[in-house]
Amino acid sequence: MASYVSHLECAFTGRHYPADGLHSISDVGKPLLVRYDLSRLGKEISRADIEISSEPGFWRYSPLLPVAKSRDRVSLGEVITPLVALERSAHLIGATPGKVIVKDESRLPTGSFKARGLALAVSMAKQLGVEHLAVPTNGNAGSALAAYASRAGIRATVLCPDNTPEINTQETEAQGGDTHLVNGLIGDCGKIIADGSDDVGWFAVSTLKEPYRIEGKKTMGIELAEQMDWRLPDVIFYPTGGGTGLIGMWKAFAELIELGWIDCELPRMVAVQSTGCAPIVKAWEGGAEFAEFWENAETDASGIRVPAALGDFLILRAVRDSGGFAISVSDDEIHRMVEGIGRQEGLLMCPEGAATAAACKVALERGLIGMDDTVVLFNTATGLKYPMPEVTSSIDKDAEIDYQIFG
Ligand SMILES: *Cc1c(COP(=O)(O)O)cnc(C)c1O
Repeated sequence: MASYVSHLECAFTGRHYPADGLHSISDVGKPLLVRYDLSRLGKEISRADIEISSEPGFWRYSPLLPVAKSRDRVSLGEVITPLVALERSAHLIGATPGKVIVKDESRLPTGSFKARGLALAVSMAKQLGVEHLAVPTNGNAGSALAAYASRAGIRATVLCPDNTPEINTQETEAQGGDTHLVNGLIGDCGKIIADGSDDVGWFAVSTLKEPYRIEGKKTMGIELAEQMDWRLPDVIFYPTGGGTGLIGMWKAFAELIELGWIDCELPRMVAVQSTGCAPIVKAWEGGAEFAEFWENAETDASGIRVPAALGDFLILRAVRDSGGFAISVSDDEIHRMVEGIGRQEGLLMCPEGAATAAACKVALERGLIGMDDTVVLFNTATGLKYPMPEVTSSIDKDAEIDYQIFG
């Protein structure tokens, strides 16, 4: 088995780079994207071959992934994540029951969709002989790196802002990541890692600063297409931090079209952020090509607390080219959705996923999308990693039970 990778390409200038060897960013400091020989792939592999694949989870899309040898594949038992249509909680969004569908990424190893990207980054690191990886993270990327690196026998160092949720730093430690808290933001963590590369010899797998995490995130788009019988929804709401998933899905759709595996209209891509950290929304509203650094970023949805994204222009491009939009919601709206969808539907969303539900509600109210649109929301992590309501009622088994309280 070999890969269909032809070369790497600077996402900004289009300059080509050879695909063998270790690469971070392009000579102008922009992300590198993996390109494939799609005409050869299309001749040798068909959509039907993919459909009968028995590989676990997204590894069924291996022909569209960069790992050349199956022995370099690092897997922890990935699954195809389910599509759960909102029925009983649709009214909270003001939507028709069944029209808003949650792609529930919480079922992946380490409880978040970061598993997709880090599985690919670690597999490629293994293929390229890297022995030590490092990542700056607000939480989920750290635990996913730790888990996959341990699985591969590669060392992992994880630097987190000191306000990262404790559950994330603890799960990272527990899965073998050497974890450190930094009194700063994710950018400060990234700088320490970049500055230490020569001294320590680690390779940084920061968001979009190496070409392979996006290839993992891309599988969300292929998987969604296959699950929907090679059609796509009208609108996708995506909780946007670094934007890897949104950019990755948009890349996947382009590849599927070129292969002739889909020929439907493409979804409108909606970048969802928190009002406490909305650089992409601000840039979209201002018609800018790049986003400005967001000062004093603050939101409980820590996965989207990203004040500056290296792929800002790619996010904005995908949003515009798709006829989508960028929209922000408050933490209050986010918490109301976590609570409402959990209690009424039995589906525990993470705050980032709940932000997409809150944004969908606003978009329906403002007429940005229609009641007949089929909408997919991404629930990017398990709600079990975040604070949950306290249970305050207790019962004394030795006293007389007041059954009225159960009424
Ligand atoms: C990282 C993360 C995001 C943002 O993902 P990007 O693709 O980098 O924009 C959203 N939600 C959760 C739970 C995350 O961990």
